[in-house]
Amino acid sequence: MKIGFVGLGNMGGPMAANLVAAGHAVAGYDPVSVLPEGVRPCADAAQAAAGAEVVITMLPSGDVLRGVAAQLVPAMAPGAVLLDCSTVDVDSARAVADLAAAAGLRALDAPVSGGVGGAAAGTLTFMVGGPSDAVETARPLFDVMGARMVHCGPAGNGQAAKICNNMILGATMAVTCEAFALADRLGLERQAMFDVVSTSSGNSWSISTYCPAPGVGPVSPADNDYRPGFAAELMLKDLRLSQQAAVQVDADTPLGACATTLYENFVEGPGEDGRGRDFSALLARFESHGRRAQ
Ligand code: NAD
Repeated sequence: MKIGFVGLGNMGGPMAANLVAAGHAVAGYDPVSVLPEGVRPCADAAQAAAGAEVVITMLPSGDVLRGVAAQLVPAMAPGAVLLDCSTVDVDSARAVADLAAAAGLRALDAPVSGGVGGAAAGTLTFMVGGPSDAVETARPLFDVMGARMVHCGPAGNGQAAKICNNMILGATMAVTCEAFALADRLGLERQAMFDVVSTSSGNSWSISTYCPAPGVGPVSPADNDYRPGFAAELMLKDLRLSQQAAVQVDADTPLGACATTLYENFVEGPGEDGRGRDFSALLARFESHGRRAQ
């Protein structure tokens, strides 16, 4: 397929490399990042979009996506698919879909989970919103870049699924970390804590697959000095998107709000050291902060 790719950073770079390796013709544009081998460099986003059947974007935020989409849409071939894989707010995803539809194009919001490792290995999970015929056009690309794709409904629903999932992840990781710190203070061995919780009703992905305590459970960023992995600031970004969406639709999300505050303090608070560390490093924060010190 002829593909345009805009935003070739930590995620977009390896995703584009996998498309090239699978035999697709990829034209790419990024103002900063180095393009992977085999991607034809373009002078701007519009040039990358010209003549492409599918244009993929992998960008940092909804504002950037809106700006880039305004350049892409007039340059795209009639009937082409604009496939945004960034994590952005639901409103931006729906606004871009409307812009594309008004120009006779089809748009999909398809945020991913699986991180940089999943992008490199081609094992991402795509959560997709948008029309079924566009999903079918993009299906061979999902097969190359990912291991799983779930069509979640109309435009914006991919982003909705992503932020709901990551709100659960942020809250379960936070409570798993605080439970480990509580267990420490109660004199419970971490291995015993892991053995019980990972096989009991307190189990979740946060403990059984991505255990925040070093030396117990499967190998995770905790065993690598909390190098990300999934960086705490990316978790904060997704939690903020969940709270922005909750305000817009009047949903009551107290645990999501609490997790957002915790990660806000961890990443941006004075004296905190969350920035640049894996999101599971919140355990170290709970180890060093007692209740009485607050
Ligand atoms: P990144 O910052 O490494 O890459 C973003 C790229 O977009 C950069 O190379 C930047 O130069 C480029 N860019 C910025 N403005 C641009 C513009 N106007 N035109 C063209 N390119 C532009 O970020 P990333 O880690 O690759 O993340 C990309 C998206 O994927 C984000 O929305 C993020 O939330 C999401 N995501 C990231 C991860 C992860 O583990 N890194 C996991 C899941 C989802």
